[in-house]
Amino acid sequence: MQNEIRVRFAPSPTGDPHLGSIRTALFNWLFAQQNNGKFILRIEDTDQSRKQHNSDQKMITALKWLGLDWDEGPYYQSKRLEKYHTAIDTLIKNNKAYRCYCSPERLDNLRKQNSKNHDKKFIGYDKLCRKNSNLETSKPHVVRFAMPETGKTIFNDIVRNEVSFQNELSEDFIILKSDNFPTYHLANVVDDNDMKISHVFRAEEWLPSTPKHINLYNALGYPIPKYGHLPMLLSSDRTKLSKRHGATSIIDLINIGYIPIGLINFLALLGWSLDDKTEIFQTEELIKNFDIHDLTKSGAVVDYEKLSWINGYHIRSLDPDSLAKQIYEFWELNPPKNFDTSPTMEETKKIVPLIQNRIKILSEISEYIGFYFKKSIDYTIEELIQKGMDLQSTKIALEASKSALNSITKFDSVSIETSLRNTAIELQIKPGQLLSTLRVSLTGQKISPSLFEIIELNGIDKTIERINISIEKMTT
Ligand code: GLU
Ligand code: ZN
Repeated sequence: MQNEIRVRFAPSPTGDPHLGSIRTALFNWLFAQQNNGKFILRIEDTDQSRKQHNSDQKMITALKWLGLDWDEGPYYQSKRLEKYHTAIDTLIKNNKAYRCYCSPERLDNLRKQNSKNHDKKFIGYDKLCRKNSNLETSKPHVVRFAMPETGKTIFNDIVRNEVSFQNELSEDFIILKSDNFPTYHLANVVDDNDMKISHVFRAEEWLPSTPKHINLYNALGYPIPKYGHLPMLLSSDRTKLSKRHGATSIIDLINIGYIPIGLINFLALLGWSLDDKTEIFQTEELIKNFDIHDLTKSGAVVDYEKLSWINGYHIRSLDPDSLAKQIYEFWELNPPKNFDTSPTMEETKKIVPLIQNRIKILSEISEYIGFYFKKSIDYTIEELIQKGMDLQSTKIALEASKSALNSITKFDSVSIETSLRNTAIELQIKPGQLLSTLRVSLTGQKISPSLFEIIELNGIDKTIERINISIEKMTT
């Protein structure tokens, strides 16, 4: 099909997958979904010096985890070198590219002179080898693209509208390095053509490369794709986003306990909005409403508080079983330090109703629910004794609670609440005094879900056992 929509996500495996990269992936993915198009994954690994072990696998894991599935790939550029060499040979044959034999020392000197004389027009390489043809080919060399020396390169960017570059401002950039690997520019253009990419949506930092690419397309006789450069991500102080401001690696964000839809929803709003009030979107709603033509040109501020708020909203809206599944997987990857046992799926399902409305990120759960996964809990006698109580009255209160709980026929949180409130009345103490003592006895925690739900969750045996331990503690 001639007009098929084909987009790609083309990360370089140079580090942990970055928030900004994932936003690029998401926008491409959404565009493909909306247009019944294809989303292609390509790993741009021609820069051998910057390659990082496992970086591609981390990206693949993150995309899968987010549900951003691709139709083709992953293609690896390092396995496609022949295609690039063919294109480079064609360019050389047609005088659109040339071999450059200049030594690193010569280039270094040029650079130094260049910065000294402030000659605005002299950009980088002085084209010595462009003027000297017939040079030998066996000596070490790079291949440079012969940029047009006059005129402008003008294109219509879907986000930035008309963009115009003066050709003389671009140097004759390298397309083949001395290690015989192509550069990003060349491989990117050859692949986008080979993979019949119709639209290139990528980060704004690539905007200055686009005129280079367009001239390469022209020189190779390829049709030019449509471009859209996505607004930069900024921190709250409007400087470029960096690790200093919060986690920028998607792997770190996963480990903090954001859930896929929370991150997807948040990322979609970095540069795009439906109106001035709608903040919550499910994926289907994004597919329906997202519009690449409506992006802002100005930078998008990454607000981590908003991310947590959106994530919390989605956690509350999830169906409990699917939340349980996500918590279970999260704990498998990040076993909470305060747990003595590894939660089973059954146990995880049981705790969901206690925490679902209380948390914004999954890592918060363990501090609420640690008591349930601990063999023994830790607290002092002082913590058991509440204001206005003493050792004796606290012991009596615990004994009374035991018998009250033991005589409940239907052991659910409602009956537990009624029975314990009655106990407080009978003992002539405040409900708060009784309940706080029990909270310490049963959880050892300062914060916890509702006490009545905790008791129901623990069950009668474990509850009595823990109360007995408290009584014993106070007796010895
Ligand atoms: N490999 C480039 C990157 O890592 C891709 C840029 C593009 O999409 O053309 O961002
Ligand atoms: Zn040269």
